[in-house]
Amino acid sequence: TFDTRAIQELDAAHFLHPFTDHAALRDKGARVIVRGQGVYLWDSEGRQLIDGMSGLWCVNVGYGRTSISQAVYRQMETLPFYNSFFNTTNVPAVHLAAELVALAPPQFSHVFLTGSGSEANDTIVRMVRRYWDILGQPERQVIISRQNAYHGSTMAGASLGGMAGMHAQGGLPIPGIRHIGQPHYAEQGQGMSENAFGLVAAAWLEEEILALGADKVAAFIGEPVQGAGGVIIPPATYWPEVQRICDKYGILLVADEVICGFGRLGTWFGSELMGMRPDLISFAKGVTSGYVPLGGVLVGKRVAHALVEQGGDFHHGFTYSGHPVACAAALENLRILRAERLVEKVALETGPHLKAAFNQLATHPLVGHAESCGMMAGLNLVRVKGATAHACVPFARALHVGMLCRGHMFDNGVIMRAVGDRMIVAPPLVMTRAEIDDMAARIWDCLDLTLADVKA
Ligand code: PLP
Repeated sequence: TFDTRAIQELDAAHFLHPFTDHAALRDKGARVIVRGQGVYLWDSEGRQLIDGMSGLWCVNVGYGRTSISQAVYRQMETLPFYNSFFNTTNVPAVHLAAELVALAPPQFSHVFLTGSGSEANDTIVRMVRRYWDILGQPERQVIISRQNAYHGSTMAGASLGGMAGMHAQGGLPIPGIRHIGQPHYAEQGQGMSENAFGLVAAAWLEEEILALGADKVAAFIGEPVQGAGGVIIPPATYWPEVQRICDKYGILLVADEVICGFGRLGTWFGSELMGMRPDLISFAKGVTSGYVPLGGVLVGKRVAHALVEQGGDFHHGFTYSGHPVACAAALENLRILRAERLVEKVALETGPHLKAAFNQLATHPLVGHAESCGMMAGLNLVRVKGATAHACVPFARALHVGMLCRGHMFDNGVIMRAVGDRMIVAPPLVMTRAEIDDMAARIWDCLDLTLADVKA
């Protein structure tokens, strides 16, 4: 039998976890996840969990895909590693680059490969500054991002991100990064229609550009739908207006598609759904469904032309840029997404079903409002329900109702994330309608348990 306690003690003694309160971990012991199949996980005590978070927004094709493990095994036997520096290449990396360009919107021609989403965003910081250097405008240095964004944990990734807690640790942001407000209608759009608020939020970008001077601004970066910030879905007017502003001032538009890419919103890339025409796209996670680490940057022709035709060497790259095993995993993952028509399914079948399930959850007395986009959804826990999101009364933050609710979820077999009092999911794209119903039923029961706690 499995000795969970022994693993928890070793874990607490030696393993420093990301974003974890280690004192609490030591007292309670980490949950030990040992196996996955489809949309379900099992812990070391044999408890089954439905994974509402796709691991960490990444296991798009679900767990237990032997065709991916076989592709990885075959590649390891043939060529486990070679680099792509100094005029060398490898076959899976070349095929993956070509395939990604074929899947991407027509303005893309090239791919730069990395090991993670954070490295992809670091690459973007260096690449956009390099681009303006090559064009003879080296004073165009500033990259504008948004509050509450998450773009990774490296120095540049965490600087681009807009999370105050991250900036407070380690002297961030690095120079040349600015943040504007996020298009969060429920929090900031009081007294306006959603579409009117979308235009107001986009205008914050123009105000920032004018305050800095357009000739100082290199790029604007944003997630099509903000993920870790709480599944913040922008009004339909927001991205087209941001696009117009970027075009007006010649500023590069960057879509961080680390979460939204590879079908999450029912399109191959979230920017297609949102009416963006980005010059660069960062991706990771869903490109391999998390089976092996891989990330990268899709490079549009505008930037690629400067880098390839005019720039000479770009002094940048990672040992694992184009790792053959990761690329083999990605190729098989993309084949599965296509063969099972998972992207279309999200648009036509599973995404609408998840929306209906969350609309139903919104009738719970603890839920203020719910939203969804493709296979991402969120609901807000509130003290008093109101007719609109703006009319609800929130709980005092210090009560940590979201964390309480998340605990009930985990104890009762559903993994859901809490961002303050907003509960969010991003399930595997393979989740069936019956499994969505199973997840929603478990969520409802845990909302009941949480309501009982807050009443007590
Ligand atoms: N960008 C976004 C939008 C993300 O959600 C994440 C990770 O959650 C990252 C970047 C960073 O990716 P990674 O953790 O692979 O470095």
